[in-house]
Amino acid sequence: MDFISPTEIKRIASKYGFVFKKGLGQNFLSSQSVLEEIAMAAEIENEGVIEIGPGFGVLTNELAKRAKKVVALEIDDRLIPVLADTLGEYDNVKVINQDVLKADIEKLIDDEFNGEKVSVAANLPYYITTPIITALIEGGLPLKNLVVMVQKEVADRITATPGTKNYGAISVLCQYYTEPELVCTVGANLFIPPPKVDSAVVKMVFRNTPAVSVRDEKMFFKTVKAAFSQRRKTLLNCLASNFTHTKAELIELMESVGIEPTRRGETLSLD
Ligand code: SAM
Repeated sequence: MDFISPTEIKRIASKYGFVFKKGLGQNFLSSQSVLEEIAMAAEIENEGVIEIGPGFGVLTNELAKRAKKVVALEIDDRLIPVLADTLGEYDNVKVINQDVLKADIEKLIDDEFNGEKVSVAANLPYYITTPIITALIEGGLPLKNLVVMVQKEVADRITATPGTKNYGAISVLCQYYTEPELVCTVGANLFIPPPKVDSAVVKMVFRNTPAVSVRDEKMFFKTVKAAFSQRRKTLLNCLASNFTHTKAELIELMESVGIEPTRRGETLSLD
């Protein structure tokens, strides 16, 4: 099936009178090689995969060729008849008309995949990048790989190393639960319509256990958030404005674990 070319995407849009909704992040991918890279990175041969936002089904098509089963969640009901048409040849694809942010993914994995580990692949709608990634990563779900197209700057933050300008709370969150890597960068011209920013595909491989052992995850992430709350301030000042401890108490605590209070949050590794 070839419905990836710009001409074909435009033909389908015109056949169904489909008008792209910017508010739903509808920038459809028209690059066969990038679609294949996403599907291959997901490593889903004979396994289950969830897709977020199938659009006209271009990525779904690549996933369906490889996976045992694909479940795709699409919020826009105008796309359901289009998908029935473009994916009609597959009997291993199920499209659900649902907002991914309202979906109970744990129940979906139980119901559709017998609770077995699955991967998630998506050309994400950019307006919900952070809530989706956070929900999938923190959710304690049986997930193997998360392969997503995001804005290039988000990919840079997810994969950033300590001490660099892109390193922040989302880097720590993603690197704590997964091993992230950049798969490829993708120019805006490969989408219809083209978004305003360049994009990149990142692959996050879920760790069996978090990268570091922490006693209290809630407190850990509260501290991380506080550490990055004011980029130009020292760690001591950031913590002092987010916790009720006195500065003297914080200095004592930091010195007891060998962290200079004058350091900045972004210099701290996960360890
Ligand atoms: N996968 C297609 C592709 O690569 O060409 C479309 C990707 S497009 C960037 C994002 C898709 O996500 C659109 O089809 C859009 O309607 C859908 N979408 C937007 N918000 C959503 C949500 N909250 N839940 C599920 N799908 C959503």
